[in-house]
Amino acid sequence: VKSNPNHDFDVAIIGGGSGGYAAARTTACEGLKTVVIDGADELGGLCILRGCMPTKALLYAAEVMHLASHPEAWGIRSEVTFDFAKVMARKDAMVREFADCRAQQLTNGKFELIRAMARFTDPHTLELGDGRKITASHFVIATGSRVAPSPLPQLNEVGCLNSDTALELTKLPRSLVVLGGGAVALEFAQFFARFGAKVTLIQRSPHVLHEMDSDAAAVIEEVFRREGITVYTGTKLLDARKIGALKEVFFQHEGETKRVLAEDIFFALGRVPNVASLALDKIGAQLEFGRILTNAQMQTTAPHIYAAGDCTGLHEIVHIAIQQGEIAAHNILHPDRTKSMDYRLLTEVVFTDPQIASVGLTEKRAHVRNIPYLTAKYPFNDHGKSLIMEAKDGFVKLLAEPHTGEIIGGACVGPAGGELIHEIIAAMHKRMTFHELAAMPHYHPTLAEIWTYPAEELAAQVPH
Ligand SMILES: Cc1cc2nc3c(=O)[nH]c(=O)nc-3n(C[C@H](O)[C@H](O)[C@H](O)COP(=O)(O)OP(=O)(O)OC[C@H]3O[C@@H](n4cnc5c(N)ncnc54)[C@H](O)[C@@H]3O)c2cc1C
Repeated sequence: VKSNPNHDFDVAIIGGGSGGYAAARTTACEGLKTVVIDGADELGGLCILRGCMPTKALLYAAEVMHLASHPEAWGIRSEVTFDFAKVMARKDAMVREFADCRAQQLTNGKFELIRAMARFTDPHTLELGDGRKITASHFVIATGSRVAPSPLPQLNEVGCLNSDTALELTKLPRSLVVLGGGAVALEFAQFFARFGAKVTLIQRSPHVLHEMDSDAAAVIEEVFRREGITVYTGTKLLDARKIGALKEVFFQHEGETKRVLAEDIFFALGRVPNVASLALDKIGAQLEFGRILTNAQMQTTAPHIYAAGDCTGLHEIVHIAIQQGEIAAHNILHPDRTKSMDYRLLTEVVFTDPQIASVGLTEKRAHVRNIPYLTAKYPFNDHGKSLIMEAKDGFVKLLAEPHTGEIIGGACVGPAGGELIHEIIAAMHKRMTFHELAAMPHYHPTLAEIWTYPAEELAAQVPH
């Protein structure tokens, strides 16, 4: 690593969330003089404070609530009620614990932490909120993302909940219109519905989770409808207005103008990279569709400035932010033996019930890229352990290279799908074939043994 001794730091990292912390830990650990600058009121980053952790705590509560509210299957007789304030308080306590732990990691002296907003004044200088200036030889930008601006000005006038503000509710809305059909929309829709809100979900694309395969989306749409959520897909938002204490949303669906009236609107139409505060024009780092453009080594178009996490846009997934932060740090440390991001094992999980998980290629991506594949599927409604659990929705699916049999993709829509997908991540990591997966021992009766069925089906089609 080449640093200028006249600079205050070898590396300055802007943003102390998952990506920034991973980068700082890595450069500091190998002896570089490192500073993390974070301008948030509260340390912790999105994942801990307003992302993964609080939402999963709420969704787990919703799942327990759902199981308890359908006791007849288990021979239990009871009437179930709940205390919304307690559900939120448990989530808050957990977030507090995770955030305290992250704050300790950021302040334990391995690197310096400055609590301030930062922006560039030239390619080696940052100006902090209080006017101080610091210089560094290398930078990692890890400033995250924020809720996207609304595409419809009327929504701003009417006012909407979003994933930040919904986590602070003290009272459950009795009815809710959810705008969007991505992971955040689906997770919150099911959480609110399972606690008794009347939920209507409005999605623009022909099916929810528009980047995933339609068979996966169809399962969750069916489950939502069965649980009383109204789902509209293939819509166009037209207008929103306030009517007394209620809010009304107008949209086009199957050639007709429809409207839904609800106590509140939950806005889940995506996030945008957090870059406006950085004055990137001062450093020559290029943007692409609002995200910081990097190469596979996480280097921006200014070679001594790297970027990691949501501000680089494409995948808003926390383990990717961490991996990108570590790769940026490695490449600052070892410019002679750089490492690159590899998205072959790109994994996505939606923590609804059933969970929806995929790794590697989906059929949709394979078609777009013209990649030939073999595929086989097996449903959870014909599998021992899931029948024991009364968890019959969904399926597992494998995609494989037709000649070698290498597994190139997997999907699991079903009970513990986010856990089960890890068997295929491990298999793909080691470039296993479906013959090898089929030959691997699986304990009975487990959810995991369901993977042997599509593997055996493929093995029968293509003898070893
Ligand atoms: C509701 C929700 C649920 C999610 N659930 C999951 C999930 O289950 N699994 C998953 O993998 N991902 C999930 N995500 C996504 C995940 O949380 C993010 O991908 C990840 O946290 C991004 O980390 P980051 O380091 O890029 O940014 P952040 O953690 O947001 O960190 C950015 C930091 O930069 C600071 N900052 C910004 N600008 C400046 C500046 N100019 N100067 C100084 N500091 C600045 C901010 O204060 C912040 O602390 C979820 C997201 C949401 C919104």
